[in-house]
Amino acid sequence: MEILEQRIKKDGRVLGKDVLKVDSFLNHQVDPELMQAMGEEFATIFSDEKIDKIVTIESSGIAPAVFASLALHVPVVFARKNKSLTLPENVWTADVYSFTKQTTNHIMIDHRFLSAAENILIVDDFLANGQAVEGLLKIANDANANVVGVGVVIEKTFQKGRQILDERGVRVESLARIKGFENDEVIFL
Ligand code: 5GP
Repeated sequence: MEILEQRIKKDGRVLGKDVLKVDSFLNHQVDPELMQAMGEEFATIFSDEKIDKIVTIESSGIAPAVFASLALHVPVVFARKNKSLTLPENVWTADVYSFTKQTTNHIMIDHRFLSAAENILIVDDFLANGQAVEGLLKIANDANANVVGVGVVIEKTFQKGRQILDERGVRVESLARIKGFENDEVIFL
């Protein structure tokens, strides 16, 4: 998506060898016009699928997921990170390792908000090693929901998430695909 790539070039900052910081329009401050355009793009890309609900993870997935849900006219549910020692009842759960934070999060979705045979689209901000999406796939599988695809704002193709999801036969669509960083510049695929 051209306007997203332009924005990444203008405002993205490369950290180390594999992290892109986009906190001025996606991960901290949010640009609503860009987000709306991205939501509409997801709706167009997945217009051939029957989608009942969008599923994401707090917190950075929420903004793009909400705009996609608005464009598709379906509800959005975000998996919450469980911070208490006791697990609430009646939740689907998964463990998700975050390579940017190097911690494992226990994520959960209440049984009331995900049910069998629902067609869901997973939306997230980044696809890196695929752990976040895998956690959501596990929850969808436990709930007997049907995953029609995964919509990602920024995919880093040099990490293993895409390969894992391709091997599982999951449809993945990304709005920007980064093949690497050179001299702190972003190189798109
Ligand atoms: P994965 O589970 O695919 O390894 O990583 C996905 C999650 O890690 C995303 O939801 C995102 O929050 C975070 N993440 C991964 N790579 C990056 C990155 O380069 N920049 C930022 N800002 N977040 C990232």
